[in-house]
Amino acid sequence: MDLLLIGPPGVGKGTQAARLRQTLDIPHLSTGDLLRRHVSEGTRLGAAAATHMRRGDLVPDELVTEMALGQILGPPCAAGVVLDGFPRTPAQAEALDVALAAHGRRLTAALHLNAPDRTLLRRLTGRRTCGGCGDSYHLDTRKPRTPGRCDSCGHRLVQRADDTAETARTRLAVHTRQTQPLLARYRLAGVLQEVDGCGDVGDITQRLLAALAPHTMQSSAC
Ligand code: AMP
Repeated sequence: MDLLLIGPPGVGKGTQAARLRQTLDIPHLSTGDLLRRHVSEGTRLGAAAATHMRRGDLVPDELVTEMALGQILGPPCAAGVVLDGFPRTPAQAEALDVALAAHGRRLTAALHLNAPDRTLLRRLTGRRTCGGCGDSYHLDTRKPRTPGRCDSCGHRLVQRADDTAETARTRLAVHTRQTQPLLARYRLAGVLQEVDGCGDVGDITQRLLAALAPHTMQSSAC
């Protein structure tokens, strides 16, 4: 089952994708995480992506598409994947459809998780991330036991460079502009499902699973 989570920055795609991965037992691919790893490891791709990411802009299609398809078509994702952050543009969506079709696969569902901008800005600017294991915290809603330190590994918590108020606003605007054609594409293909991203994390997961129920029942019946 190949699933796509579409949603603005801060809506909780990463958290929900990790929960879906556990429940559905398929890997989770976050292009944002993958790109950040390239940046921190100083690879050529990381160097090319870093300037765009710092500004809150999208990384050019050809760089992201090659990186993402390499993972999606690799053995760990052969039985399906929860996509988080890819595709983000029509060109990426087209490349994904073509690549999946060439391997006898197709997108099972595109889940559009959404919340109001003011909620998203509050979530983004209060978010703190562990520099060691990548765990995510929030100044209001998920405080670490020791201020500024990760509960799991003790590393210092940092604010992502693109979670500052100004960059977060840019990212939301970029997201809205870029995803409209994507939503139209998946609506037309009959795979788009709208899911409310407000409220309790567990409730949101249940809404996502409910949206997927027709597909999970289908695959367990085969
Ligand atoms: P995210 O963690 O998904 O919010 O992604 C962080 C940043 O990585 C984005 O603001 C973009 O600069 C870049 N990025 C991640 N995925 C993509 C993609 N599919 N296309 C272009 N840029 C991306």
